[in-house]
Amino acid sequence: MFTTLLVGLLTTGVLVLLPSTWQGDGRSLRYWVIGNLALSLDRVHTLTRHAFEAGALSELLASLAAACVVLGAATHMTALHLLLRSGSSVRDHRFPLAIALVVAVMGWLWSEPIAVAMIGTSLCIARMLAICWPRRQDLRGALAMSAAMLFFLAMNACGLWVQLPLVLFGHRNDMSSMPVTVLALDLVLSVVVNLAFLMILIELLYQRVERLSVTDALTGVLNRRGFLQAANLQLLHARHLGRMRCPASVLLLDLDHFKRVNDDFGHAMGDAVLQGAARCAATAVGQTDVIARWGGEEFVVLLPGVHLPQARETAERIRLEIARAPLADKAPVVTVSIGVAALDELLAIDQLPSLIAEADRRLYAAKRQRNCVVTHDDSPGGALVPSGESAWRAQRPMAGAVDPLGDPTQR
Ligand code: GH3
Ligand code: MG
Ligand code: MG
Repeated sequence: MFTTLLVGLLTTGVLVLLPSTWQGDGRSLRYWVIGNLALSLDRVHTLTRHAFEAGALSELLASLAAACVVLGAATHMTALHLLLRSGSSVRDHRFPLAIALVVAVMGWLWSEPIAVAMIGTSLCIARMLAICWPRRQDLRGALAMSAAMLFFLAMNACGLWVQLPLVLFGHRNDMSSMPVTVLALDLVLSVVVNLAFLMILIELLYQRVERLSVTDALTGVLNRRGFLQAANLQLLHARHLGRMRCPASVLLLDLDHFKRVNDDFGHAMGDAVLQGAARCAATAVGQTDVIARWGGEEFVVLLPGVHLPQARETAERIRLEIARAPLADKAPVVTVSIGVAALDELLAIDQLPSLIAEADRRLYAAKRQRNCVVTHDDSPGGALVPSGESAWRAQRPMAGAVDPLGDPTQR
């Protein structure tokens, strides 16, 4: 009775203390932690009672085991504190808080922490599925996680990590009469197993955070940091395959007169056009090519193993695809200027900045005409792919289209 009341208070305290959701998953994890904590505390209570009945050595073991549990629970809390977003208010917690209070009261009335754990785990699973099911996202992961949590709940609830083998091999059939050393060992083992599970969870969350840190939030392609990381990986991969003489090309794209889209159609439309441009460019390049948002309305593409002529073809494909149709509903048609640079042999990642700088110079040249691809330093004359703004203007006199023939301003 006393333990469950304690669990109820702790449950409430934990919910108030833990920061708000982390991408929607934090709250569900919280339920699970509460469930685990309830069981751990219940078992500390049981073990201490056994220890008092059994003598000094057992008492020592019991205290050690209890310390492990408390340490484990503290690690749970600290890890989640680190992972979850801070700065939320108690108001953000009102629903889980209300549920936790109901659960705590129920647990107290039934005098059964297992009820708290079961409801906590069920809530956790329900919430995970509610997040994943409608979007069909991470569904397999959520189901696997649910199965793992149910397994852990069952093992924790029955205190079976050590006791189950004993029972199975017929040593005992009454768990309540297990010697305290077995209970202590079981408890320590359960903490170890729980912590291992928690570390796997943390690793999953960490991977998710890392994925977010290299992704551009608006367009979903890589951001600058992600680009450099992926480029490095591609280079190492090429080396690993023994391709020491690995050529590489870089395309630098800049949407033409993009500011006018914002000015004339609003920033939301500008965002939609940026998303469309990223989609277009991503579908025009290959699987091993790396595309990223370099800055505002600029994108960069690394084409590993690709020489200049082939890179020019890819750039031209992207240019035509972007200018083919509006990139979003009711959006004006926009065009893109592209600078291309290539190396016969990309030996080290620190060559990449100079390659990008070269592509940037050519992009600058392309901006003198716009809606074109420049592959050499001396133009937009001879090396310009014969497309140009005049051809583009003849093709698409669309109402609402961004006028491509504004004064050639500098980028
Ligand atoms: P140019 O043809 O010379 O490249 O002209 P431009 O208008 O495309 O270039 P400029 O550098 O003058 O303007 C770029 C604009 O891109 C300015 C900025 O408001 C807009 N921009 C940058 N990032 C975003 C974004 O995330 N969303 C939206 N909607 N606009 C953005
Ligand atoms: Mg621009
Ligand atoms: Mg720009």
